[in-house]
Amino acid sequence: MDDKTGKTDVSIVIPVYNEEENVQPLHESLSNVLGPLGRSFEIVFVDDGSSDRTMEELQVLADRDRAVRVVSLRRNFGQTAAFAAGFDHARGDVIITMDGDNQNDPADIPMMLEKSKEFDLVSGWRKDRKDGMFLRKIPSRIANWLISTVTGVKLHDYGCSLKAYRHDVIKNLNLYGEMHRFIPALASWYGISVTEVPVRHHPRTRGESKYGISRTIRVILDLITVKFLQSFSTKPIQFFGPVGLLSGLSGFFILSYLTLLKVLTGASIGGRPLLLLGVLLIIVGVQVIGMGLLAEMLVRIYHESQRKPIYYVKKVIGAMGDRDQ
Ligand code: UDP
Ligand code: MG
Repeated sequence: MDDKTGKTDVSIVIPVYNEEENVQPLHESLSNVLGPLGRSFEIVFVDDGSSDRTMEELQVLADRDRAVRVVSLRRNFGQTAAFAAGFDHARGDVIITMDGDNQNDPADIPMMLEKSKEFDLVSGWRKDRKDGMFLRKIPSRIANWLISTVTGVKLHDYGCSLKAYRHDVIKNLNLYGEMHRFIPALASWYGISVTEVPVRHHPRTRGESKYGISRTIRVILDLITVKFLQSFSTKPIQFFGPVGLLSGLSGFFILSYLTLLKVLTGASIGGRPLLLLGVLLIIVGVQVIGMGLLAEMLVRIYHESQRKPIYYVKKVIGAMGDRDQ
């Protein structure tokens, strides 16, 4: 790292939660790979409120190696929050994320760095994944297919933590929930270039996995949010409007039909289920359109109060000279 500017070429961001046996070997293998690269680097460990000796182990590394920085969170906030904390503290032009359990292999980093000269985001693909078949690999395959289809950003392995980002991809991004795996989809909104490279993967030999099958459900819920943000975040009425109109109009036609029936034939319509359905559809229609209008106001408040544009400029050329954004 350059001490004067605080700038560095590469930041490695690693969230760790109860990985006491893993941090030291990981630091060693990382140093072996990064040292010979001839580029300045920092290793940012984020201790996500570990309750074992992880923090003590990290302290030893930070005392010994000036490239190591440790961000210690007050409690266990989850992997997404840990990544977000790491991004906020990372100063590199390229930011590489990986797991702290030695399942990702630092040996892939030079190749990813090379690729990141060309692409804004380089995503690892654990082609030969070393995890359990039924509880991990099959649910993950279905989830990856679903996320690719719904978001339109085609990746084989959204869940792989080993990724390389250009600094500006990350700095514009706010993460919530379990969103770290959706960064490629979220960032696609900015118009970034994404590529995928096969990477090595090793079985976990120390410590325990922090997740079970329940993650699949959380991923699907987050997917709904991401799809909505990706498609309608600046025009919510375009999502709510058609649903509301369809419901309201159906209700209108049903009630018109019943009214005509009553007026023309004098038939009794008071006890008909269709009457209830018509009323329900109109109420739902009005509510949904109202929600769309409220969302439109929220969009304006969100963007205008924070001066967030609804577009991203790559560069401006012309009389004032070239200017990268
Ligand atoms: N992790 C974290 N906070 C959590 C859960 C996990 O920082 O609440 C870290 C964990 O220490 C590891 C990485 O996230 O470095 C991936 O976790 P894990 O290996 O358990 O996930 P898996 O590889 O089994 O999907
Ligand atoms: Mg793991």
